[in-house]
This record gives sequence, structure tokens and C-alpha cells, in this order.
Amino acid sequence: MIEIDGSEGEGGGQVVRNACALSLVTRSPFRITKVRGGREKPGLMRQHVTAIEAACTIGGATCEGLTVGSSEILFRPGQVAAGDYHFAVGTAGSTGLVLQTVLMPLVLADRPSRLVLEGGTHNMLAPPFDFIAKSFLPIINRMGPTVTVRLVRPGFYPRGGGRIEVDITPAPLSAIDCVDRGALVDRSALAMFAAIPPRVADREVAIARKLLDWPDDAFAVRELPESQGPGNILLLEAAFEHVTEVVSGFGKLGVSAERVAQTAVGRMTGYLASDAFAGPYLADQLLLPFALAGGGTFTTVKPSQHSYTAAAVIERFLGRRCGFTQLPSGTHRMEVR
Ligand code: ATP
Repeated sequence: MIEIDGSEGEGGGQVVRNACALSLVTRSPFRITKVRGGREKPGLMRQHVTAIEAACTIGGATCEGLTVGSSEILFRPGQVAAGDYHFAVGTAGSTGLVLQTVLMPLVLADRPSRLVLEGGTHNMLAPPFDFIAKSFLPIINRMGPTVTVRLVRPGFYPRGGGRIEVDITPAPLSAIDCVDRGALVDRSALAMFAAIPPRVADREVAIARKLLDWPDDAFAVRELPESQGPGNILLLEAAFEHVTEVVSGFGKLGVSAERVAQTAVGRMTGYLASDAFAGPYLADQLLLPFALAGGGTFTTVKPSQHSYTAAAVIERFLGRRCGFTQLPSGTHRMEVR
């Protein structure tokens, strides 16, 4: 039984999701005490319960302590079964974080799977759909499997109601090297909004345009149907030959359009100023597939606490180290050992 102290390192929900995925792949049971112990409101939240339930469903697993607020869980994996699954994350829990939980076990299964995930598609503190589709999955597909994702309907916090569909054709994960991002080939900025005044999105774009000095035709505003709101996100995309970085600023009540734009621009300029392959979010999310592949390297900006924590959980299950070393340029290099 693998024992994990859920308050260590980042001490958030990602520890739970990574542990479920690793447990299903390795068939090792685990217990987490002090679940999300690093958070102001510790214990499982609704979205974590849904993610664990999804892991139980695809993996014939059982989980003790699976209730909202629970601070201890005991997860016993079974046999992963590929198939057609539908998971609804309730209000606006992130569909992307449920996908994070079940993707690797299904990618390594013996048959294709199809997932329908309902909930939030553009949530704060979670990978937005565009990041999954353009940053994360292209790397997974380069490792062997074929995973395609489709946004049927966007869902913003707190209303939710979004829907994504995912098709997974499994294959063994091969170790790849993602060291060089290549030349910059495209840039774009998109302010999406629903049921809020259009001037908010216009202001976000105007500020991003001023701060980024990108060509005028790189900027766009998209209004979604009223029924999908209220919601607002500013997405900035930089496509390089070998990787695309997608960063976001999330609009919410009480946060000015200026603030949303500055957050997104700050993230993008940080990435552009480095020569790293992976931004901070892509880095923590690539650790699991790279470790499961048993090798490979990528370069990244300064590793986040999420990355170090993911590496620690991975080592407990796989006995493989995801080590980071700083290069003379200041970029960091991750290598699975
Ligand atoms: P909590 O932090 O409340 O425990 P949580 O379950 O959302 O909740 P975290 O442990 O913070 O979990 O993990 C969040 C995950 O979402 C990480 O994998 C992180 O890389 C990813 N993420 C967060 N924001 C973004 C973003 N803007 N773009 C891409 N990925 C993101």
C-alpha cells in the first residue's frame, strides 16, 4: 500500500488525480491522508470526487472515504476497461481535470475509448479546452497514442454546462525529446465572452495589443450565445514549430479587463522571454506521460511546486525520477531517470 501525505509539496488536488492515474496503470493501491492539506479549505471538493469516481468507473476500482470534505481516501484499483464513458462534473467543475485523471490509463488500455465530459471547459486554475487541444495533446500524440478532442459547447464557472468529446486510440508511450521549440510560426489573441458587456472583451484585446506588439490581425473577439454565459476568457497563443503555448486570463466579477489582460500577457511574455519548450502548466502535466514512457526529456521554465509535487508522487508509484537541472541559459531540463 502506497501511503501519501496529501499536504506535502503543493498539497492540492493534482496529488489525488495523479495518484489515481498511476494506481490504475500500476495496479497499486494507495491511501492519501490530509487530502488537499495545503489548501485553505482542505479535503475533497466536488470536482475531485467526480474525478475519483471517473477513475473508479474506468478502472474497476473502489475508493473508501469518497465524499465531499473527506480528508482521507483509500483507493484500490481493478482492471482498466476501455469503452464509451460519460462523466458529468456537476456545476462547473473542470472537464480538463477529469480528463487528466483518466487519460493515461485509457491511453495505455487495449482498445479505443470515447469520453463525453460535461462541466466547465474554461475554468480558473485548470487547463482550458484550448490548452488541452493545442498544447498538451499534440505532445501526447507524438508519443504514440492518438487522442482527439472536440469542444461541443463551452462552459464557464459558475454556470458550467460545457461539453467536450474525446476519442482515444491507445498505444504504448514512447520516450521523446522535447528540447527545442523551433521557430515562432504564429501568434493569436482571442477574447471569448458570453452574456457580459462586449466592451470588456474589447478592452482586454486593446490592452493585450498594446502590451504585446503583435500584428493587428492576430487579435480577435468572439461573442458566444447568451445562454452560455456569463463568462469571459482571454486566450493568448504562440505557435512554435514543435510546440504551442496557450496562456489564459480569466474574467470574473470584480476583476477588471485590464487585470485579465495583464495576467495573460505576463504569462506569455515570461514564456517568450525564455527558450524553453514547456511553460509551467504544460511541464507539470507532461511529467506523468513522460514518466510512464520510462524516459525522455523536455526543457521548461522554472519548475513550479506543482511539478515537484507531481514528480514526488510519480516516484512513489513508478520508482522513476523526474529530475530537473538548470542549464546555463536559465532554462531547466527535465529528464526521466
Ligand atoms: P486545488 O488547487 O483547489 O487543490 P485542483 O484540483 O484544481 O485544486 P491543482 O493541484 O491546483 O488542483 O492542479 C491544477 C492543474 O491545472 C495543474 O495540473 C495545472 O497545470 C493545471 N492548470 C491550472 N491553470 C492552468 C492554465 N491556465 N492552463 C493550463 N493548465 C492549468
